[in-house]
Amino acid sequence: MHRKATITQTQAGMTHEELQAFGAELDAIRKRVMSQLGAEDARHIRELVRRARLAEVSGRALLFAGLFPPAWGAGVALLTLSKILENMEIGHNVLHGQYDWLNEPSLNGATYEWDWACTSAGWRHSHNYVHHTFTNIRGKDRDIGYGLLRMAEEQPWHPAHAPQPLYAFIQMLTFEWAIALHDLEFDAVLNGDKTLRQLRDHARPVLRKLAAQLLKDYAWFPLLGGPAAPAIFAGNLSANVLRNVWAFLVIFCGHFPDGVETFESHVDENELRGAWYLRQIRGSANCTGPRWFHVLSGHLSHQVEHHLFPDMPAPRYVEIASEVQAICAKYGVAYNSASFPRQLRGAMARIVRCALPPAKPATTDATSARRPAPRPGLARAGVASLRARAQRLSLHVAS
Ligand SMILES: [Zn+2]
Repeated sequence: MHRKATITQTQAGMTHEELQAFGAELDAIRKRVMSQLGAEDARHIRELVRRARLAEVSGRALLFAGLFPPAWGAGVALLTLSKILENMEIGHNVLHGQYDWLNEPSLNGATYEWDWACTSAGWRHSHNYVHHTFTNIRGKDRDIGYGLLRMAEEQPWHPAHAPQPLYAFIQMLTFEWAIALHDLEFDAVLNGDKTLRQLRDHARPVLRKLAAQLLKDYAWFPLLGGPAAPAIFAGNLSANVLRNVWAFLVIFCGHFPDGVETFESHVDENELRGAWYLRQIRGSANCTGPRWFHVLSGHLSHQVEHHLFPDMPAPRYVEIASEVQAICAKYGVAYNSASFPRQLRGAMARIVRCALPPAKPATTDATSARRPAPRPGLARAGVASLRARAQRLSLHVAS
């Protein structure tokens, strides 16, 4: 049996009764909305599936005429759009079981297979269970930096973290592959928590999926295109990279902007529902924007509401957001919401800030950190200057 991690009552800043009332008010929202699901929710997801398919067919058809540059550009745009819709608003949400109540096999969270390197089965474990249960808990939520980036000052620093802005850039371009490989848990094998045999059993379906994805976009479709093969290959590569960039940016804006907390692991067998909700809110952030932005982000622009109610059809997050915000205000809980560019600046600044070694304990006064390092400490001067830049950036973002 898995033990739950939670924030303590002291950290919550609420009494036991307040946490219970806080949880009950949020439960009431869920109960009301889930009882109202119906034709409009069904229409939304079916229409999205139809549009994503139309965009994919049109995009791939245009790429077959890809030797003509305007057709190539339009083909890449449409294929990227279809991949983003399929990945964010359809795949992620269907895999959460948001549309299981429709009883449509093609929209069932237990059987849906998506156009993304991770297998759906692996995603249901790593995302639906691990990430959504242990959101932003250091050492438990494997999505904190995906095993590559240091994303909290409380995490131990290693010199290998110094170039992490570069790692993050590479991770952004290759996001679906980075996640698929990270989910194999090589680190657990190195730690002795997983045997090589378990790794092999885990890796087999993942490698099959990776091969199928590679063959589809980089062999079968290009070969079908004859002389347009190089254009189709480049078009598919561009669409996949653009989708990776978009998914990376949306996900990092959901959990790592300024003000979003990461948590130490505590164990509480009797975690209150209100405490669980509180941790989800404090570990998530929303991005404001127009409706098209919400749809393209899979409504992860409402990461707070998604983490409260992961199995609620995502478009409903927009209508409950003001209610959730009002409940947060009533109980003195910070509700993190800002424009996409602002949240993005905060998340990127965190990547830069956490690349630097932690500031030494207060043995020096505050101004000494800004003094030029005495010669010949060029390396130290470089680190100090980077840290000062990161601090300025962070202050700028927070202001
Ligand atoms: Zn999710």
